[in-house]
Amino acid sequence: MSSCNALTSRQFAPAWGRAMSEPFSCEVQRSKRKTLALYVKPGKLIVRVPLDASKSEVEDFVHTNRAWIEKRLSEESARQQERLVVEDGRQIFYRARELEIVFRKGAKPRIMTEGGQFIIQGHRLTPAKAREQLEDFLIDKASHYILPRARGLARYLGVEHKISEIKLRKTKSKWGHCTSQGVLQYNWLIMLAPYSIIDYMIAHEVCHLIHMDHSKRFWLLVNSVCPEHEQYIRWLKEHEHRFWF
Ligand SMILES: [Zn+2]
Repeated sequence: MSSCNALTSRQFAPAWGRAMSEPFSCEVQRSKRKTLALYVKPGKLIVRVPLDASKSEVEDFVHTNRAWIEKRLSEESARQQERLVVEDGRQIFYRARELEIVFRKGAKPRIMTEGGQFIIQGHRLTPAKAREQLEDFLIDKASHYILPRARGLARYLGVEHKISEIKLRKTKSKWGHCTSQGVLQYNWLIMLAPYSIIDYMIAHEVCHLIHMDHSKRFWLLVNSVCPEHEQYIRWLKEHEHRFWF
């Protein structure tokens, strides 16, 4: 997530807000910037403006873009509804399939898929316990899949020596990260996605060991190891909100 160096930030409920169909709060962030920009989060509009922007300038900007804001706010609230809730009878979007979560009694904790069901088996399962079990399941899958494949691809590209560590971590909004010290980080929630998507994420971070930016050279390298990456990026954009729990 990008950080914001807002010098002043305040919440207000502007008059034009009432005309919108989705309830939302609005935050104006002032910083050393030249243009005005809008960011929409679930139930929240963020307006980034230059330090000297007047109140009417900000309101005009929002007013002019209200159709787009409305559309984005309802998209965000629809996405919020689709977030994963680990409860018996709920839906889970696992490997691009809609499955029904089924809590099953059993002495041995296990997770498996059967037909259209995603079965979480355990002793005296509660949603909290099931969540923990799902977390362990995904972390285990990630360590068996992502770690060796990231190393293997780095070896193929001749940069395995640049890897100092591979971390698996659930972050707020990111799928992966690569530092100049050679630390690769992957969000284990990606194990809910199809393998083609996971492979793209693995390739993306490994390619950063060679190019630390998102330059043309970087994307050419990604393309050489994952030619369908554009399709996978689109897929992720459309579905990634369903993986967070
Ligand atoms: Zn990147």
